[in-house]
Amino acid sequence: MSTELNIEKLKLQFAEYLKRKKYRNTQERYNVLDRIGELDRHFNADELYLYMNGRGDRISRATIYSTLDLLTQCGILMKHRFQGDSAHFELSSRMPDHDHLICMECGRIVEYREEGIDEIRDRVCDRLGFRPVTHSLQIFAVCHDPVTCEHNKQD
Ligand SMILES: [Zn+2]
Ligand SMILES: [Zn+2]
Repeated sequence: MSTELNIEKLKLQFAEYLKRKKYRNTQERYNVLDRIGELDRHFNADELYLYMNGRGDRISRATIYSTLDLLTQCGILMKHRFQGDSAHFELSSRMPDHDHLICMECGRIVEYREEGIDEIRDRVCDRLGFRPVTHSLQIFAVCHDPVTCEHNKQD
């Protein structure tokens, strides 16, 4: 999965964006991007905060929030709102064209690709007179076996 990830290329893209928008070009922001590459999964701001400080980065929540916003604005990160109020992020280039299934019990996020979904997207756009660009389909479900559900394991 991470073989397609090229963090150096993303850093250049980010640097160009910051320059164009006249945002401050701080090392901390690139460090955030490095750590996101290491994670190679979905995360929310708090998880990233704990991950980075656990590695001695001593970064503030405010810096994490603002950097996540900037990375989302320039398209490097995708922002998902699965359920509840904390947004999840992932690198756009990590795994193109996948969708998500969210367990309503434990909050586990499962990524999947299903061919028929692209066809539905194209058909709907065609019928309504639009040109398809991308899509996002979230399936909300519950674990089949409550014993293996991570939510119930924690109890
Ligand atoms: Zn995903
Ligand atoms: Zn579950």
